[in-house]
Amino acid sequence: MVAFVCKHASIHMKVVIAGAGIGGLTAALCLAKAGHQVQVFERAAEFLDIGAGIQCGANALHVMQYLGVSDQLAALGVNPERVEFRDYQTGDSLHTMILGQPYHDRYGAPYLHLHRADLHRVLLDAFKQINSSVLTLGIKVESYREKANSVEVALSNGERFDADLLIGADGINSTVRAQMLGKSPAKFTGNVAWRGVVPVERLPDDWMDTVVSNFVGPNKHMVMYYLRQKRLANFVGVVENKAWTNRSWSAKAPWEELNNDFKDWHPTVRSIVDAVDRDSCYRWALYDHRPINNWSSERVTLLGDAAHSTLPFMASGAAMAIEDARILQRAIDQAPSVADGLQLYQRNRFERTAKIQTTSARAGGLYHFNSRLMRKAAFTAVRTLGARQEAYLPDYDANTVKLV
Ligand SMILES: Cc1cc2nc3c(=O)[nH]c(=O)nc-3n(C[C@H](O)[C@H](O)[C@H](O)COP(=O)(O)OP(=O)(O)OC[C@H]3O[C@@H](n4cnc5c(N)ncnc54)[C@H](O)[C@@H]3O)c2cc1C
Repeated sequence: MVAFVCKHASIHMKVVIAGAGIGGLTAALCLAKAGHQVQVFERAAEFLDIGAGIQCGANALHVMQYLGVSDQLAALGVNPERVEFRDYQTGDSLHTMILGQPYHDRYGAPYLHLHRADLHRVLLDAFKQINSSVLTLGIKVESYREKANSVEVALSNGERFDADLLIGADGINSTVRAQMLGKSPAKFTGNVAWRGVVPVERLPDDWMDTVVSNFVGPNKHMVMYYLRQKRLANFVGVVENKAWTNRSWSAKAPWEELNNDFKDWHPTVRSIVDAVDRDSCYRWALYDHRPINNWSSERVTLLGDAAHSTLPFMASGAAMAIEDARILQRAIDQAPSVADGLQLYQRNRFERTAKIQTTSARAGGLYHFNSRLMRKAAFTAVRTLGARQEAYLPDYDANTVKLV
């Protein structure tokens, strides 16, 4: 067991957080900054350099600005110029969204591509420096019992812990959620995602501008972007595969299957498939939950994937967890009681997170048309809907949005 301990002068509430993922750590930082005493329990014994790229829009970066870590993240990441949707074989442009400086000027923060491990490490380092808070690794939150004036949290080492509030930031297979709502396991969406990173020196010099490329084709799409100051290139190749039987969350898979899935695709896609290490191809089964609006009780709530896991097609799962964290802290600080704060938090998060869940589920249909004609028509419709639709994601500042 490893514990990081810090001290703080003014303490308002004792908060236990299950899970030290991006959501749990952001919540811990927001709450500690507001003067609460936070205990985070993480079931993993150590943090590994796993995952791959994460796209973070201005909405997530606003919270990072509040926490004082956005410059650090900008220095580690890549700021793309635009998102390009392209035909999987011809490479013809279907739709473009401008990012870069115009996006930054408009929304007050950049759009960043980050390695998940970098984002996690920056949050962890910040956590170790602030106050009054402890992170314990290798301990699982097993269950809880709500009492009149506190919540008792049972841990995997047999200890029990009394707190004012328990936050289940324990991911898509949340133990806290299972106790609160009964067994409602996330459902396999019929999509699997290949993920990998490749050092850029293995790719052709003119491989790709500093953009997000999303090549869309029948029943599949492939998203590619740079990471770590353009030293790495990241790909996520999504394939509809309803019959897939190995539904483990993430498993090594043979390169030949990746190769076969994208065999007749555009040279930009082929280059990265050819360049990836043959023995480091990972295939993730993609699960999600249907939206729910009852993820809080008197002293227990959920956050991030535990509350509203989503397909990654809007690249917003982590961003939603980050927004949740800040809104939760503001809500409990503003409300007269913990229970009122949790209702205020949930009320102010439901509509937005449900919209991401349903839009992400629909985006697969848009990307995966079999007919080139249908695909073109669908993206023409997207262009017509235009900026108003695209703005709802970044045009949200969890630091200032009015809580009602
Ligand atoms: C292919 C793919 C691409 C993605 N791309 C993006 C993207 O570009 N942008 C974006 O914003 N999001 C993206 N996401 C989504 C994003 O990764 C998740 O939404 C985000 O990581 C959720 O964070 P979380 O903190 O809620 O949960 P998690 O990251 O799952 O963290 C949960 C933590 O809780 C721990 N834990 C579990 N159970 C317990 C317990 N009982 N007690 C204690 N600890 C426990 C786990 O070990 C883990 O550390 C992507 C996801 C996938 C699959």
